[in-house]
Amino acid sequence: MRRAILAAALVLAFSLPARSYVYETWGGSPVRWPNAMATVYHDPATIQGAYVTELKAALAVWSNVSGSAFRFTHGGSSPSANVKDSNNGITDVYIDPTLPPFGYAVTMVNTPYTSADITERDIAFNGNVTWTTSATNQAGGPVDFRTVAIHELGHVLGLLHESSKTSVMNVSGWDPAFARHSLEVDDMDGVRFLYPGTGPGPGRRHAPPRPPPAAPRPAPPLPGLRRDRQHRFRACNRGSQSS
Ligand SMILES: [Zn+2]
Repeated sequence: MRRAILAAALVLAFSLPARSYVYETWGGSPVRWPNAMATVYHDPATIQGAYVTELKAALAVWSNVSGSAFRFTHGGSSPSANVKDSNNGITDVYIDPTLPPFGYAVTMVNTPYTSADITERDIAFNGNVTWTTSATNQAGGPVDFRTVAIHELGHVLGLLHESSKTSVMNVSGWDPAFARHSLEVDDMDGVRFLYPGTGPGPGRRHAPPRPPPAAPRPAPPLPGLRRDRQHRFRACNRGSQSS
């Protein structure tokens, strides 16, 4: 009898869904775009030519997940008077040479939250990093722009860093000089959880949240990077587990 129970327990253990994606929460609810869609603009002053092409490719990666309603749209050149304004309702992507040498990029979050709905996220690529759009794949070499864009866009839609599975959101031992242009299963599971749905076209309002599969992780403050109380910075470094 004991053996039968043990066998049943083992079957149960192996049949449980293995999830390790991590996402933001507010008031116990997942933080996400309310209509499962986000329009992203690029700063024409700092992102041009092949970089625009690579950004669009990164957007498409997250928009084409089977079983996810989420869609990114490229809005073109930003209409923002100031792309660094994280509270203008416009999601901007830009390269900023004035950022400190902390890492590759940050996703700006307008805080404090007043709800679990995302209204804006901005991505700042560090202008002090040597970027490439040609996936040269040399250890410690120029950093692949699309690889980092895919990672940051994961933050834009609500995912945080994870550490236990292969994932574009796992930056443990990360060398973004090596191109990673597709999502792993855990990334796809994460966006499916946040934005369940099917089919192409515009996103749809998300379903009521299910119980979270992982405990929320508070974002640790990053000394020296906080410009004011309205912004929380998420630095994405090689080997960093901060989120
Ligand atoms: Zn990150």
